[in-house]
Amino acid sequence: MADVEIDNIEKTFGDHTVLKNINLKISNGEFFVLLGPSGCGKTTLLRIIAGLIDSSSGRLLIGGKDVTSLSPRQRNIAMVFQDYALYPHMTIADNIGFPLRMAKVPVAERKAKIKEVAELLRIEDYLKSKPKELSGGQRQRVAIGRALVRSPSILLMDEPLSNLDAKLRTTMRFEIRRIQRQTNLTTVFVTHDQVEAMTMGDRIAILNDGLVAQCGTPFDIFHKPESTFVATFTGSPPMNMMEGAAVTSAVGVTEKTVVGIRPKAASLTPHADAVELSAKLVATDLLGNELLVHSLVEDEPFEFYADVTERSLIRDEMKVFVPRERIYLFDRDSGKVTQMGQGY
Ligand code: ATP
Repeated sequence: MADVEIDNIEKTFGDHTVLKNINLKISNGEFFVLLGPSGCGKTTLLRIIAGLIDSSSGRLLIGGKDVTSLSPRQRNIAMVFQDYALYPHMTIADNIGFPLRMAKVPVAERKAKIKEVAELLRIEDYLKSKPKELSGGQRQRVAIGRALVRSPSILLMDEPLSNLDAKLRTTMRFEIRRIQRQTNLTTVFVTHDQVEAMTMGDRIAILNDGLVAQCGTPFDIFHKPESTFVATFTGSPPMNMMEGAAVTSAVGVTEKTVVGIRPKAASLTPHADAVELSAKLVATDLLGNELLVHSLVEDEPFEFYADVTERSLIRDEMKVFVPRERIYLFDRDSGKVTQMGQGY
């Protein structure tokens, strides 16, 4: 276990700067998520932490020690990839124990460690099987087991759930968090899936175009987005962003402002001190107790949730009410937040 300090890391490939002045501190025992769209530099940063590629400038400290020029092996880091990369001809026990065999750990110690890890991962019954006899989720557990068996100081995971189907992904999210809590292992987890990031991370760093757009707890990232990029990268559906004159004048701001409204903040029922918007119905999705309403406000898409009890208020032309305290404002040119929404 160790903390990680990413100190002014930059990476260029030819004349393409992929990472720009990255500064992050990851605490001991933290589950830290790197989130961002494809190509934003997540994997590159993870590989720099692992020592698989060199940074162009900056330093990396693990447990307070400068490891920038150390090899991957000397860093005592384990990495789990998207494809499990198991050895097909070896049993599960041999797959898990492989790093220990390479390190010439005595057989008895190796067996004890394999047993301990298999119990932690709940795969004790499969130790004699071959990888092809296991499901995707079980194989992923084996890959994690092989990473944990060497007792690394840091665990790095690069989109480890993307090859699993939706249901298994949800199960494995909780499993990985359980294992991480039990071992208290500092973990850096890369994903482009905001739900994965929100449900798993102690903290999240959102990367955009090689820069840290924001770093914080899932709660802060969702409720206190510092820019239009972060506001629209989180939430499903994401925050509605409105720039039309009717909306800006209803809110009482200049046209250089982007008005941000989370779908849950709007309602069909009148509300004291609310901004009133005129919406045109596009479609509705029934989601059990509530409906997701797709509409247009001044020709801009506007999505919000309505309670099933409000069904009769859904019309081709309808009034939507948004409490003022729940409205976010952003500067149109810089995209930076100028007023945080409140009232959650
Ligand atoms: P994804 O989610 O698609 O994997 P990512 O956020 O992990 O994306 P990276 O794989 O880190 O992004 O890539 C960031 C940028 O760096 C991309 O534009 C990519 O083309 C570029 N890049 C990565 N590795 C190299 C390399 N070895 N040589 C040149 N360019 C590279």
